[in-house]
Amino acid sequence: MKRLFLAPAGASGAVLAVLVGLALAHVSVAYAASETDFIPGAVADVIAASAARAATVARVNDARLRAADSEPGQWMTHGRTWAEERYSPLTSINSSTVARLGLAWAYEPGTHRGMEATPLVIDGVMYATGEWSRVYAVDARTGKPLWTYDPYVPGAKGRDACCDVVNRGVAAWEGKLYLGALDGRLICLDAATGKPLWEKQTTDTSRPYTITGAPRIVKGKVIIGNGGAEFGVRGYFSAYNAATGEMLWRFYTVPASTQGPFDTPELAAAAPTWSKDSAWDSGLGGTVWDSMAYDPELDLLYVGVGNASVYNREQRSPGGGDNLYLSSILAVRPDDGHLVWHYQTTPGDQWDYTATQHIILADIPFAKRAPDGKPELRHVLMQAPKNGFFYVLDRATGELLAADPYIDETWATGVDLKTGRPIERPEATWSKTEARVTPGISGGHNWHPMAYSPKSGLVYIPTFESVYSYKPDAEFHWAPGYINTSESWRGVAAELEGFEPFVSQNVSTHLTAWDPVRREQAWRVELGQGIPAGVLATAGDLVFQGTTWGKLRAYDAASGALVWEADTGTGIIAPPISYEVGGEQYIAVVAGLGGSAGGHFIKFPNSNPGRILAFKLDAHEALPPMPDTPIKPGMGDKPVEAPVIDASAEMLTRGRALYAYNCSRCHGLGVQASGLYPDLRHASKDVYASWNAIVLGGAFSSRGMASFADVLSPDDAEAIRAYVADRAHHQPGWIEWFAGLAGGRLRIPARWLAN
Ligand code: CA
Repeated sequence: MKRLFLAPAGASGAVLAVLVGLALAHVSVAYAASETDFIPGAVADVIAASAARAATVARVNDARLRAADSEPGQWMTHGRTWAEERYSPLTSINSSTVARLGLAWAYEPGTHRGMEATPLVIDGVMYATGEWSRVYAVDARTGKPLWTYDPYVPGAKGRDACCDVVNRGVAAWEGKLYLGALDGRLICLDAATGKPLWEKQTTDTSRPYTITGAPRIVKGKVIIGNGGAEFGVRGYFSAYNAATGEMLWRFYTVPASTQGPFDTPELAAAAPTWSKDSAWDSGLGGTVWDSMAYDPELDLLYVGVGNASVYNREQRSPGGGDNLYLSSILAVRPDDGHLVWHYQTTPGDQWDYTATQHIILADIPFAKRAPDGKPELRHVLMQAPKNGFFYVLDRATGELLAADPYIDETWATGVDLKTGRPIERPEATWSKTEARVTPGISGGHNWHPMAYSPKSGLVYIPTFESVYSYKPDAEFHWAPGYINTSESWRGVAAELEGFEPFVSQNVSTHLTAWDPVRREQAWRVELGQGIPAGVLATAGDLVFQGTTWGKLRAYDAASGALVWEADTGTGIIAPPISYEVGGEQYIAVVAGLGGSAGGHFIKFPNSNPGRILAFKLDAHEALPPMPDTPIKPGMGDKPVEAPVIDASAEMLTRGRALYAYNCSRCHGLGVQASGLYPDLRHASKDVYASWNAIVLGGAFSSRGMASFADVLSPDDAEAIRAYVADRAHHQPGWIEWFAGLAGGRLRIPARWLAN
């Protein structure tokens, strides 16, 4: 194992000793556990029995992935090809035939939370994932379920998930599937049966790491990262031997000190970009939670790195610094994880401007700013990270070719193409005073994948327009167990608290077609409020995208004209795919709202049943019926059983602040749930009677409600109970509705709002 960080304590004790706020002994124990294989019983038998079947399913390898365009009916890796264009070369469904597109089959896995997966389709079998890292194998022609796999992620782990218990998909290799489970395990499954073959704990279980992203496989190595920066972790990604599960290398994206010793030469190079007084105990973030791509000619693996664990740059790295490799694109050798080049999109980021957004590799006739203006074919990497600029880089060298705003932004006047650096506007800095900045924390583009059509030459980006007030919190210090961004989630939640869980007033969304050669927008479709879902482009001159409000749509790739629409019932955030089975082309998508906006900003119109839907020409299947008990958040029709508690105004104020900080992320601002999580105002009297057993004792942890005994005292829990009960008896009326329309920034004491 080269450059292995998780070495025995004796070998790297000095490094471990400086690790993020943990005692050396504790770390050593955790890491010892993480290095221990957990292999389910009789694994040898399983492997032997599955060998024959494994020879016929999910037989993905380097040669097949490299030649993925010669098998246009397959979808063998996350973005269909290593270049991740999310472009289907299939053409049966096209501008002339799309009107005949209808539902071929629907499969309902029984889920109700966010569904973000890109299914794989290999040799007629679809492999999709859903909430709590469950895996579903279905017949891609009929939707008939073949097997399901549940890794039984402990429910309490949901507390560590910033953005819902989602999963974005599996990887396939030589008859096996690879799943990154929410609790940090990398699990290898027999693709024929769904039986686990081996699993590895890829994270320190004492820290709030999660995995929601899809692994990628290159040269027999499973590449997997993780998330957790909002809570405080140290980011990294790793390579595991796909056959054995042995860890081969690990790339930490941020140093553990400025003094060393350093895990890698890359971290020694990064150290001078950090203050020696950096918030080391926070882990500093830089998680690699989504995007990857691979160029087999250059033998370069590209990954996108996320935001810091402390947003406020002055509190994170006092005195400044670029803080490598936060918000960066890294190009590494897959064999050993050595860095070949890096490009930092947002040096010293302070706005949650991750560069984890989808990366696409393409060869485009790029008109470099040469005097003759003559286009030359460039091998590029394209990304639309959260910061609002569309980047085109030479993917061999990392040279910046273009960086243009694909959406309104107010944090920089531009990007200097010579230095590659953004020119920041000083007024966007909020180290000391509040700043309203565009894009906000949702970014101009988030995880929802974009797509690139080599035929139209356009990149189709699901975009947000948002404004956000970043507020410093002078009292901030990193503490385990909380969202720890320092941009005062406390303040934001407390301020918004009391209003309807409305679709964020300042967010509008679109499907934006970007021309990377002309460096300008080609067209834009306004999608209104909601979440702009992931995108698929096809050689049939179509672009497919779902909507928050329960439709799957097709647009003309050249003009953006809406050419087809079908009901899906459940809203969509995931990207569609296309594949071919039995000579017929299908468009498929996984439906289910949720993710980071799941607890807020959407009022769920129904119980959000998860659905895998497949469409083909001349099919006329009916959608499964929607459940007849729609969830009614807010003014729900469930009875109020909350006790009347004689609490002082002081106690209610304290309960409100504690609720905002600890509970509102799931149960909703102002105790008004979105519908995805229980609305506590309508909790049963038994829940109120068992309050401390649930909140502190973890009685409901298997359902996702973890114990908060590490951060709340019994007095705290009682104050929250009193506040929640108070809210149950004083449900919002027209004043709050009006305040919500006014932008969600009016501050109305809850006590004024008695009906
Ligand atoms: Ca983030």
